[in-house]
Amino acid sequence: MSGKCPICGERTSRNGSYCENHQLAYENLKKQYQYWKDALQISWQEYLQKIMENKNTGQWAKEVAKDLIEKQKN
Ligand SMILES: [Zn+2]
Repeated sequence: MSGKCPICGERTSRNGSYCENHQLAYENLKKQYQYWKDALQISWQEYLQKIMENKNTGQWAKEVAKDLIEKQKN
């Protein structure tokens, strides 16, 4: 299944629903959440919100977090 990254429109990477850069950011978000979840007992949704509000979050990660939040609203 090949398609376009919903965020930037680039071709998606082999096993992802995002392009290479956004997929990488997504994997990192998921990895990081494991630590946050244990330390802070927060939900995935709350975590994404914090990522969005964090000034230190990189551009790629921020865009992925925004996309995931919007998906969960539907
Ligand atoms: Zn992308």
